[in-house]
Amino acid sequence: MLRRLPEVPSIYECLVCGYAYEPAAGDAKRGIGEGTPFEELPEGWRCPVCNSRKSKFRDIGVPQTPSGFAENLGYGFGVNSLTPGQKNLLIFGSLALAFLIFLSFYAVD
Ligand SMILES: [Zn+2]
Repeated sequence: MLRRLPEVPSIYECLVCGYAYEPAAGDAKRGIGEGTPFEELPEGWRCPVCNSRKSKFRDIGVPQTPSGFAENLGYGFGVNSLTPGQKNLLIFGSLALAFLIFLSFYAVD
């Protein structure tokens, strides 16, 4: 069996007005806490902008990290499916490795 990756809740977009529900942000106006996936919103929840029902929303995929820098580093290496935490680990791991290589220039005489 494949290892199950940590789930990143999808952003859902309102087909009526274009409002995007971001699970990381929640919906403070309606008492929806940060990190609430769209699927777990109460059935009575409606679009904060145009009052459309949940059925008017569609899944537009997982959020991108706010840092374009991290995105660029990950580009083309198949790590776009990683969580931000995993990306950071990868990035800082790479930096540490680069640092060690840099040090090795001084180690060899
Ligand atoms: Zn709407």
